Amino acid sequence: MQIKIKNPLLHWYNNNKRTLPFRETKDPYKIWVSEVMLQQTQVKTVIPFYNRWVKEYPTLKSAADASLDKLLKLWEGLGYYGRCRNFHKALKIVEEKYEGEIPNNFDEFLNLPGVGEYTAGAVLSIAYQKCIPAIDGNVTRVMARILGIKNLTTKNQKRLKRNVQKLIPTIDPGNFNQGLMELGALICIPINPACEICPLSNLCKAYKYKEPALYPHKKKKKVKPHYTVVAGIIWRDDKFFIQQRDENAMLGGLWEFPGGKVENGESLEDALSREIKEECNIVPIIKKKVGSVKHSYSHFSISFHCFHCIENGQTINHSNRRTWITLNEIGSFTFPKANHKIFSLINETELHV
Ligand code: SF4
Repeated sequence: MQIKIKNPLLHWYNNNKRTLPFRETKDPYKIWVSEVMLQQTQVKTVIPFYNRWVKEYPTLKSAADASLDKLLKLWEGLGYYGRCRNFHKALKIVEEKYEGEIPNNFDEFLNLPGVGEYTAGAVLSIAYQKCIPAIDGNVTRVMARILGIKNLTTKNQKRLKRNVQKLIPTIDPGNFNQGLMELGALICIPINPACEICPLSNLCKAYKYKEPALYPHKKKKKVKPHYTVVAGIIWRDDKFFIQQRDENAMLGGLWEFPGGKVENGESLEDALSREIKEECNIVPIIKKKVGSVKHSYSHFSISFHCFHCIENGQTINHSNRRTWITLNEIGSFTFPKANHKIFSLINETELHV
């Protein structure tokens, strides 16, 4: 089975792989950057972010020594900011504990913040030619179809992993892993796989059973909860107040307006006053509504209502995680996408609140 899969897969991969900037490098650090960015994000989205990152931080040391604020700014818009925070922590560990050399031992690499089995397998097989599987969603689908696995039970996932482990060759393991991923991305796609041009069709059970798209069964998507969220743009002359989120929270390290979730039965204005009192210890004067936007995160979605406000005699205490900025300074801070949607609603005439 190994030769039967390996040879046609590698041949197909070498002739059909997409030209991607992170496939042009052998630098383990740059390969690692790309794999962190590719987690839960499409290739076409990642490319400009990857190019900007390696231009700004061409070496592991340069990124490890950078401030988290700078890295988050570069990551702005890519989402899942925990990846960036963990990557920064991991780079610092590599710099301090491993003298800047990414460990090529699976367990040591896996121990770094944010590194899971997939990332460890991908980086070590591609950068160091280690014979370790890298099983992402694409590989799971391809292998489930080849093996005729319909239900991805824990037992079947272990079976799938054992099979990839047996199949991965000692020569070219990186290309083998990338070949499976690329086949899943280009040919063995979730709906209407292109079996007629697939290099593995003669080995594929799902193809033989004539219903490849039914393999594996898709899990039903959970309905995302939806929340109503309010925020205040508190003005002091031509500046408004922003605060930095706790590093360990969702969107940690990003800057935002004060605000939060509206509770059941609460009006938007009451919720805003309560949240600003809790976060800034002042009761604001709410002037007028900036607007509302909708935004979807991975596990929930929000309706985001934003109001222009001013201080009511009391002033907001200062700290290094709180500041006042003008609209021209937005570009110097990293904000969640929902805040950028609000920025686009603010127009100059509304500034004089
Ligand atoms: S034959 Fe079809 S279902 Fe099987 S691996 Fe190839 S594309 Fe996927």
